[in-house]
Amino acid sequence: MTSSDLDITDTVLAELRSASDIVQVIGDHTALKKAGRSWKGLCPFHNERTPSFTVDRDKGLYHCFGCGAGGDVIRFVREIDRLDFPEAVEVLASRFGVTIPRRQRRGPREDRRDRLFEALAAAQRFYAQRLARPDNAAERYLVERGVPKEMWTALGLGHAPDAWDSISKALSGAYPEDLLIEAGLLQPRAEGKGAYDRFRDRLLFVVRDERGRPVGFGGRALSPGGEPKYLNSPESPVFSKKRLLYGLFEAREAIRRSDRVVLVEGYFDHLALVRAGVAETVASMGTALTPEQAEKLKRLCPRAVVCYDGDSAGRKATHGALQLLLAQGFETRVARLPEGEDPDDLLRREGPEAVARRIDEAPDFLAWLLEDVRPDEPGLASSEKRERIARIQEVLGAISDRVLRYEEYRKLARAVSVPLEVLWSGEKANLRAEITRSSSVGTLGNTAVLSGVEAPEAEKQLIRFLMSESERKSLILSQLDDIYLTSSVVKRIVTVFRTGSMVSEPIDFQGQIADLTDDERTFLSGIALDESPEPTEKGVDQLLKVLETSQLKGEISALRQALGKAEAEQSDVTELVREIERRERRVAELKRKG
Ligand SMILES: [Zn+2]
Repeated sequence: MTSSDLDITDTVLAELRSASDIVQVIGDHTALKKAGRSWKGLCPFHNERTPSFTVDRDKGLYHCFGCGAGGDVIRFVREIDRLDFPEAVEVLASRFGVTIPRRQRRGPREDRRDRLFEALAAAQRFYAQRLARPDNAAERYLVERGVPKEMWTALGLGHAPDAWDSISKALSGAYPEDLLIEAGLLQPRAEGKGAYDRFRDRLLFVVRDERGRPVGFGGRALSPGGEPKYLNSPESPVFSKKRLLYGLFEAREAIRRSDRVVLVEGYFDHLALVRAGVAETVASMGTALTPEQAEKLKRLCPRAVVCYDGDSAGRKATHGALQLLLAQGFETRVARLPEGEDPDDLLRREGPEAVARRIDEAPDFLAWLLEDVRPDEPGLASSEKRERIARIQEVLGAISDRVLRYEEYRKLARAVSVPLEVLWSGEKANLRAEITRSSSVGTLGNTAVLSGVEAPEAEKQLIRFLMSESERKSLILSQLDDIYLTSSVVKRIVTVFRTGSMVSEPIDFQGQIADLTDDERTFLSGIALDESPEPTEKGVDQLLKVLETSQLKGEISALRQALGKAEAEQSDVTELVREIERRERRVAELKRKG
């Protein structure tokens, strides 16, 4: 049965709207509080900290004054669960006990999908029955790994026997071969006619859709040399790996209850966490988390804990997952796993309580990143430090909310002792890197090391001072004559600093330096990450003198050339001589003061 054959009339809709409690439906997605006649809460469609989302039970309407989302209960279900109209109607009808008549005629496409669901459900029953038979390979494997028997049935585990035709024999009487191939249960022979079982000699995990229907399988090889170790169902009209999450159907209630979702990579990681009592766990079936999966999870809850393997591949995957979760606005934590261990190793070594504790005590994602990347490791070369900070910035750049992103930058600046303005100024370049992340070149880390912009040391030191906490910054800025500066990038940065107060108003700062090129911004961060002591106020006075003197000397030399030319042409040189003398007096004066 599919929802597209529902006979949805206006009468039916009116009945459904009056039967559906909109406060109850929306209350599953965001906490609502009574406020006068209406209910108020945080909008489930956009990130906000103060409630601008209002629900009126009598009118059956909701509206968000923040993002403009609004409508009736059907609209809400469509938006929040990404359902089409008939599907949303069907969900509400079954929840509130409204009967909707069905049309007689159905399209062949719907029939085909229904047949796929039926075949997959039959296959799941068949594999589960085979696991229930005494002494089979999958049973021995599960016992050996210490998986308790009640979990076998709870998760619908199965056994694909070591044969080429077991599922084919079991189902071919009821379903045509091409349907079983489309369902991913059979594989067509490379040569000749016919097909054989896709899953052989494997322990099977069943993947379900949102309504709990089996849509595919993941199989773990049971023989030691079995290749590949894990085999998933192929893509089919009902199985889309990038949209589905293993365990989501079973975890839905626990996710709502605990208000968090725990993400793992594989089937056995999932099993380990469920055994540890962390029922709100889902797995991305051995591949990287996808944007579609992150979006799906965000509709269920706002908090996520990433629990990937404690090896370099797992940590790398964690960086990727963090970016997707942060882009969706998740409050994200990362479980600390011992080096080289996965959740299943941990369960076996430390027991279920220890696993659950690692999840509960998972640090905030930034704390984890700092532990993982270690940008403040002692004795680090400044280029290496820069590169490590860039790796963290790459993750922070994914945070969609600007205010929250700035907050994380502030924490990062504190942790790595780099002025916030400098980190934040590189942020825009980073965001661009994030957008083109698929090409994975051109991140700040690369450009930072390859900066082509240069400036004399004294001018660099001046910039360092202007980025410091000194109260005299603005005074220096007002005294500084730009003519002393030879480097065009330093001139531009000084102009930028002068136009804005360098106080910590980040948004203005970023707007101001938006004109700088990537290289120029990189130049700025390079100066800020210099590990030598910052110039003192006295040192800056000295710097200004050095800059002015060098400017005057340049002018004197130009004037002397002009003087020589004028003398050769026997022109009047009085003015030139006076100009030279005036500058030489100033040079001498600066020298005396220094
Ligand atoms: Zn909103």
